[in-house]
Amino acid sequence: MSSLPTPSTPLRAARLSLANLPTPVEPHPAILDALGLGDRGIALWIKRDDATGGPEAGNKIRKLEFLLAEAKALGATTLVTCGGIQSNHCRATAGLAARLGLGAHLLLRTTDPELDVAKVPPTGNLFLSRLLGASVRLITPADYRRRNDLMRELADALVQRGERPYVIPEGGSNAVGSFGYVAAAEELATQIGAGAAGGAPFDVFVHACGSGGTAAGLAVGARRSAVATRVIAMAVCDDRATFEARVEAIVGEMKAKEPGLERIDAFEVDDRAKGPAYAVPTDEQRALVVQVARASGIVLDPVYTGKAFAGLVARAKRGELDGQRVLFWHTGGLPGLLAQSTELTPFL
Ligand SMILES: *Cc1c(COP(=O)(O)O)cnc(C)c1O
Repeated sequence: MSSLPTPSTPLRAARLSLANLPTPVEPHPAILDALGLGDRGIALWIKRDDATGGPEAGNKIRKLEFLLAEAKALGATTLVTCGGIQSNHCRATAGLAARLGLGAHLLLRTTDPELDVAKVPPTGNLFLSRLLGASVRLITPADYRRRNDLMRELADALVQRGERPYVIPEGGSNAVGSFGYVAAAEELATQIGAGAAGGAPFDVFVHACGSGGTAAGLAVGARRSAVATRVIAMAVCDDRATFEARVEAIVGEMKAKEPGLERIDAFEVDDRAKGPAYAVPTDEQRALVVQVARASGIVLDPVYTGKAFAGLVARAKRGELDGQRVLFWHTGGLPGLLAQSTELTPFL
C-alpha cells in the first residue's frame, strides 16, 4: 500500500543494539478532546521513545547505540560525559556503562555552592546514576561553560591511571550520536510501510530540544526516510538562534561523515515554550502535565516533554495544526519528573 522510499544507502556508522525497538506509534485523540481541541481535524500520534528501555529509557539511548559502538571500537574502558544535576543523558550513560562493563564519570552542573554530592537531594536521575555506579563530580554553572575542557582534563587524568576514556559531549549531541535519530526516522518508515499510523507519513514532527542532537537527527532523517515534511524543535532553554546554529553545525558534521545526507527544508526551532529557565516550567505547563496524564496515561516531564507538548498545544490553539497529521516524539524524562514531585503536587 504505502510507497515510502527505502533509504538507498544504509548508514555506515557502527551501531550497538541496546534499545527496545521499534518503539510504539500510538494515536492519542483523547488528549486533544480533553484540551478542547478535538474539533480541529488534528490527528495526534505519539512515538513512544519514553519506552526505549528500562532505567536507560528515553531518547539518549538511541544516540548511545552509535556513540558506544564507537567507544567499543576504540577500546574504551570508561566513559566521560556531562549534564545538569538531573541529566537524563548522564543517567542513560551510567546505565549502559554498567551493562557493558565500562566505567562512567559524570560532571554534573549544580547551583549548590558546596559542590558536595552528599548534600544535594538524592532524587531522580542523580540517584539512578549513583545507584548504577557512576562516579559523580559536581561543578558550578561557570565551570560548566568550559565543560569540554574539563572533560578533556578528566580524560587525561584517567589515561594517567591506565584507563582508555571515551568522551561524550553534552546530551550525546554530536554527529555520531545524532545518527540515532536518523535511524529512528528509518524505523518509523518501516512501521508506516507495515501500516502503522494509518500507513502514511506525517505533516509535522514535534519534539523537545535541549542540546540539538535529536533535532539534527530528525531533520535529516525526516528527509532521508520521507516520514515528515516538517520538523519543529521546541527549545526548552536558550533561544532559537542558538539552536539553529547548533543544529546546522551538527548537520554539517553528519554530512561530512555520511555523504548524501541533507536536512529537510522545513525545519524550525520554536523557543516560545521554554518557560522561565532550564528545568523550570510555567504553572500552566505543570497543569498540562497533569491533564495529559489523566486523559491518556502519557506521562510527560517538566524539563523537556511537558514544555515541548505545551508548544504543540499553543500552535494547535492558534489553528496552525488544523487538519494535520502530527507526530509528537515522547523523548522520556520520567526520573526528572519524579525529582520535581513536590513542585507538581499542588497541580494534582
Ligand atoms: C535530552 C532530552 C531531550 C532533548 O534532546 P536533545 O537531543 O538533547 O536536544 C528531550 N527530552 C528528554 C526527556 C531528554 O532527556
